Amino acid sequence: MQKTAIITGVTGQDGAYLSQLLLSKGYTIIGIVRSDIEENYYGLEYLGIRNKIIFKVCNLLDMESIVDLFTEFRPTEVYNLAAQSSVGLSFKKPLETIQFNILSVVTLLEAIKKVDKGIRFYQASSSDMFGNIETLPITENSVIHPTSPYGISKAAGHWIAINYRESYGLFACCGILFNHESYLRTPAFFVKKVIRTALAIRNGKTNELRLGNIELRRDFGYAPDYVKAMWLILQQKSPIDYLVCSGQSISLKEIVHYVFDKLAIDKARIIVDKSLFRPNDIENIYGTNVKVTEELGWKYGKTFFEVLDILIVEEENNLS
Ligand code: NAP
Repeated sequence: MQKTAIITGVTGQDGAYLSQLLLSKGYTIIGIVRSDIEENYYGLEYLGIRNKIIFKVCNLLDMESIVDLFTEFRPTEVYNLAAQSSVGLSFKKPLETIQFNILSVVTLLEAIKKVDKGIRFYQASSSDMFGNIETLPITENSVIHPTSPYGISKAAGHWIAINYRESYGLFACCGILFNHESYLRTPAFFVKKVIRTALAIRNGKTNELRLGNIELRRDFGYAPDYVKAMWLILQQKSPIDYLVCSGQSISLKEIVHYVFDKLAIDKARIIVDKSLFRPNDIENIYGTNVKVTEELGWKYGKTFFEVLDILIVEEENNLS
């Protein structure tokens, strides 16, 4: 059977890699975009798949437009990846983050309930829902106690998806993904910023790298591998939620030191700037991927140093 997927946030990092994966599996893809701005298609152009996707400009808070879109295309699967996805920005723009990240989930699920309850729905949940908890590793059953407006919005979206599953029998599943990086990350995110700035220092274009708290530890992985788990989550027999992570944490300091050593840059150029610290942050977080590997057959074996090697080479190759 020909499968049709609607992807929100298709222009983002995960949207681009997920589109690439689904196209390789023969899906027709409808990508929802908020506006038709040329530069937003960069990732899809980079992967050479822009012209293989049908784009629709649509406001994800406008129920009627979403119902029309679902009625027109009758998707088999909907992947909800659109979000204000930056934790840092969420402290500066809490209203926008909370409003969009929560209401868009309700709008999409209400539209599925109206048009066809058989449409499978993937919600992009986040490890930022958990916050600082004492018992690590995080599991699918860990307590949710977010430390940022972003985390709160993702926790709400997560429970909305579960609620539509439990109340109306929808095939709604959440993939709770931990940080995952790629060349297509937007420049404000930590790993991309470190690699880009390090290369700029090496090339004499800037003098220093200013960072916030680099003592924090995170569970980082590689985005092109993580989108495979998103697809697997929607292929199960019954809707269940899964954590997707590498299973270990690494400090931000280790990452920045590794990149600087690799590019032979003096670490005195790294400036820790207290004005960049967030009002509240998660100190250490990592999860277990036992459930997703054992039950869905997802495989992940990269250390984050291996991922950094890939990203440094890719960034260097694309320097203009
Ligand atoms: P991303 O690169 O920041 O992409 C976000 C996407 O959402 C973009 O396509 C963006 O569109 C769209 N978007 C943002 N605000 C919107 C709005 N108001 N209306 C419509 N579209 C909007 O994020 P990502 O890394 O691909 O992440 C995908 C999803 O996974 C997000 O929901 C994120 O919160 C979640 N997640 C990510 C990670 C991670 O480490 N990457 C971890 C856990 C969960 P424009 O191109 O128009 O800006």
